[in-house]
Amino acid sequence: MPQLISSAPADEFAHVHEWVFDLDNTLYPHHVNLFAQIDKNMTAFVADLLQMEPDEARALQKRYYHEHGTTLRGLMVHNGVDPNAFLEKAHAIDYAALLPHPELGDAIKALPGRKFILTNGTVAHAEKAARALGILDHFEDIFDIVAADYLPKPAGETYDKFVSLKGINTAHAAMFEDLPRNLVAPKALGMKTVLIVPRNLGDVVIERWEKATDEDAHIDYITDDLTAFLQPLKG
Ligand SMILES: [Mg+2]
Repeated sequence: MPQLISSAPADEFAHVHEWVFDLDNTLYPHHVNLFAQIDKNMTAFVADLLQMEPDEARALQKRYYHEHGTTLRGLMVHNGVDPNAFLEKAHAIDYAALLPHPELGDAIKALPGRKFILTNGTVAHAEKAARALGILDHFEDIFDIVAADYLPKPAGETYDKFVSLKGINTAHAAMFEDLPRNLVAPKALGMKTVLIVPRNLGDVVIERWEKATDEDAHIDYITDDLTAFLQPLKG
């Protein structure tokens, strides 16, 4: 597994002119924990839908997440849930914890070429989060779970769809993600892959299957500071 590095080796990204970013826990740090709010909303949705106690609803939510990649996918497959109703409820959160990050904005703006957000959330959620960070204007487009026909990353079909829809030249692309499994398909497509990990990783509770392991040959670089990593890559 690659070592944690704080700034990118510019030479190794000289060929890159397509920049693809995950949103949650990638463009804003893990400790902001916006996901805790989404997580709670999802539990409430499942409890309400299936008339379950919160504990039971939460167990089912997590089982669907593990078995289908997202809770939504499980709810669609097993319970015939309307994805729009779920997504709206899940993302009804407070974005106040996200503060403008001008250094990150400058670093993204300075990257040569096109920039995209590729998220298992919705366009509305990505826009609100990116706007709160003050970085939304730097992205050409957002490819979300609706555009992916509700098939979440890490499914290869979803990356294929994104790549063909946006005309991405994957040999000249890089992908930034906080979940190791979501970098497998980009690496296979020839993209440079960068894993974003939380600061002070030891203090953070992360599900085991979300962590990088020694078998993660598909990860080119690991960093805990996206802004500092991007700064040497300006065009
Ligand atoms: Mg993420």
